[in-house]
Formats: sequence, structure tokens, C-alpha cells
Amino acid sequence: MSKWIVAKFGGTSMGTIESMTRCAKIVADKKANIVVVSATSGTTNQLVELTELAQQGNWEKCEEVIGLIRDRHLNMLAEAKGPDASKDQLETFLKQLTTLVKGCSLLQECSPKAYDGIVSKGELMSSLIFSHVLETEINKVSWFDSRDILSTDQNHNKALPLFDQIESHCQNYFKNTETTYIGQGFIGRGPDGSTTTLGRGGSDYSAALYAEGIHAVELQIWTDVPGMASTDPRLCPEAKSIQKISFKEAAEMATFGAKILHPATLAPAIRKEIPVFVGSTFAPNEPGTIIEKDVEEQPTVRAITVRKNQALLTLSNPRMLNASGFLRKIFEIFDHHQVSVDAITTSEISVAVTIDRKDLPQCEKESHFVNDLKELGKVEVEDNLSLVALIGNKIPATPGLGENIFKSLDGINVRMITQGASQHNFCFLVHDQDADNAVKRLHGHFIS
Ligand code: ADP
Ligand code: ASP
Ligand code: MG
Repeated sequence: MSKWIVAKFGGTSMGTIESMTRCAKIVADKKANIVVVSATSGTTNQLVELTELAQQGNWEKCEEVIGLIRDRHLNMLAEAKGPDASKDQLETFLKQLTTLVKGCSLLQECSPKAYDGIVSKGELMSSLIFSHVLETEINKVSWFDSRDILSTDQNHNKALPLFDQIESHCQNYFKNTETTYIGQGFIGRGPDGSTTTLGRGGSDYSAALYAEGIHAVELQIWTDVPGMASTDPRLCPEAKSIQKISFKEAAEMATFGAKILHPATLAPAIRKEIPVFVGSTFAPNEPGTIIEKDVEEQPTVRAITVRKNQALLTLSNPRMLNASGFLRKIFEIFDHHQVSVDAITTSEISVAVTIDRKDLPQCEKESHFVNDLKELGKVEVEDNLSLVALIGNKIPATPGLGENIFKSLDGINVRMITQGASQHNFCFLVHDQDADNAVKRLHGHFIS
């Protein structure tokens, strides 16, 4: 029976032809036949910078940044010995990029649709270059445009995938398991035919959607660290690698800030029970992390995560007392403005929810979101907050856990706590400036 294995390579692994060559050897060795890649390292940040410069009307600086992007990619393509047809294709992407940025800078505005058109060019260019590096290791390589397969809704910058359409496109497009198909993470196409993106870090999610759509036997996420660790190794160098972890714990880690996986990555893998491997392109033979449905070892605390730049909204109204339907009204407003809630607590007449800080500024400025909430009561907004989470097993059924957590946090003010909705998560809110310290202390107490 033919088998599909989907692999995703992140930006750091796409940085140079040398690192791309390492990735190509991994593809050949690990028998991946659908490969999606991120933009070359730093390119998405440059593209985002272009959208900002264009809004300021700073065309001179835009030209400079486009020049840097252009030189880097044309040089990489030449180094990969890409044929003239690919050079023409690359020039076409660069021309489209220049036209879009020029248009935005003339208007001094960048719509969400234009933003997606601009930032999508990173993955289109890196995948084209990588296809030629793959050809040095593999016989049959086929470059594809993810926009023909990954259908999404029209919600630019944070588009939602349309699963049934993606599955049917995958089944129709990927026919031969002996071919290595190479395309882009992060990007898709909305119902009006325009380019959409899945949000920053979205290439992991794209790979998982391909794995689901093609019914893959394995999803491999190749990055710059050898698998998931007990906390971000950049914050705690003594973080321990996790060899096996359950879908549920890993999904909580991703949702609560472990940047190694985009928060939505595991949902498609869970739906189809596809095991996920996370490993490093710098150390491909290290064991990495295997994420699967059930794992034998179930520690109470497996990992500590932190999600920074949170805002806390507290809505109070004495009419909430004994009233039904109040939460529904509140959440209708969140739904209407497409703002996602992370943690929530309630009291007699108040509800407090955390959201990503970046969901706030535009709403606050235009006042629509907060003003709509104000129709329901008094609204207080606090920011510069971080959610710290302990991820593990049987958390609500472990006596003494809270005592140990709060002993470790001695002297740090805890603004809000949530626990109980999941067996796998205990999470609390602290000021941004205390977050790293809280993680280090908890990691020292529960893991190191
Ligand atoms: P890529 O470009 O491959 O998508 P990312 O930078 O998005 O890579 O994710 C990898 C980074 O995630 C690592 O370099 C590491 O600093 C960070 N990270 C955060 N939390 C964890 C964790 N618990 N385990 C491993 N890495 C983590
Ligand atoms: N290139 C995109 C980003 O930097 C998507 C990704 O790398 O996953 O956000
Ligand atoms: Mg990433």
C-alpha cells in the first residue's frame, strides 16, 4: 500500500543553500513525499516590514528592502543551479511583490488582502529554490502552488481552512507516492480567488492540514531544536527534551505559548490520529519528540509554557447577578469581532477574560469591540500581562500541586488563575516583567 509522509521545514532550516541541502537529505532519508516549507529565515519579517513602510509611504526604504530580498533569493537560486524557467518565475514573484508594495505606498494603506499578497511571496520563493535543491537528492520532484489545494475562508491574515475542500484537493492532486511534492506552508486561497495566510507561524498548521487531507501515516515537523522540551530552551538552557507526549498535552503546550508548534497544528493530526514527529534539521538523528494519542509515562507536570503580550478584559455589571444569558451576549461580541478568548474566570457580577494584546489596538482605536462590550457593563482593560501554564496530567486531581506552585512563585503577584477545564493544564496570569522568572522558578521546582 502506498504511504504518504508529510514533512515541514521551518525558516531557519531554509536559511541558506547549505541548510536546504541538509533538509533535502532528510527528505530523502525519512521518505517524506509531501513537503511544505517556510520562507527563508527572516524574510517574512522583512515582508511585514514592507507592509509597514508602505503604509508610511516610505517607498525609498521599501525599494531598499525589496532589493535585499531580491538579491538574496536570486543568489540562492543561482547557487541551487535553478533553470531559466525558475529564474523567470522568481522574477514574476518579485515583480508582483514590487507592484503590491508600490500600490500600498501610493495609497499609504495596506489592506489585509494586500498584506497577504505581500507576505505570501516568502514561501513561494523559498519553495521554488528548495525544489531545485531537492532535485540533487531525489529523482522525481514536483513543485506545487499551495493556493490550489489549501482552500480557506476569506478572513485575511488569519484564514480558517475549509477541511472538506482541502481533502478533496489533496486526493485529486497528490497521486504518486514515488514523487516528492514540494509546496508552501502558511498560504492558501480564499473563495474570491485571492491569496490568504493562516497567521504567523502557520506553516506547521499547513503541514498538518496536508497530512489530514491525504491521510498521511506520519507528520514530521523539522525545526531548529531537537524536539519539544520541558520549556523554551532559549529561556531555560537546562530544559529537558520530551521523547513522547500525548496529543492533548502537546496541543495545550502549543496553545499556551510553546512557539515550536503553531497553536492549531495538532487539531488535524488528532482528528485523523496521525503521529507527529518533531526534530531538528541540525541533528536529524537525535530521537526528537513523538506526539501520539496515548503515552505510557504521564507525569503531573511535563512542561511549563509562557504566552506573552496578553490583555485582560474585566466586564462588570450588577445586572449579571442571577441573570441567565449574560455570557452568551458577551461571547457574541467576541465572535462578531473575531477575537479569541484564552482564559476566563467569573465572579458574582464580573467576567474576566484574557486575549492576545494584538487583538486589541485596532479594536480599541476604532472602539468598536470595547464599545460593544461597554453596552453590557463597565469594562476595564489591563495589558503587559503573560499567561504561564503548567502542562501535564491529572492536574485537577493532584493534592498539593497548588501549594507547590505558589511556594515557587513567592513574591510574584498572580493576577488571575484558571484550572479545572482540562486535566492537562494549570494556568495563571502575571505581569510581563515577572513571566520569565516565574517560568524559571517553576521549571527549577517541578522539572530540573
Ligand atoms: P521554525 O522556524 O522551524 O518554525 P520556530 O522558531 O517557530 O521554528 O520554533 C522553534 C523555536 O521554538 C525553538 O527555537 C525554541 O526557542 C522555541 N520553543 C518555545 N518553546 C519550546 C519548547 N517547549 N520546546 C522546544 N522549543 C521551544
Ligand atoms: N513564514 C511564516 C512566518 O514567519 C510562516 C511560518 O514560518 O510558519 O510566520
Ligand atoms: Mg514556527
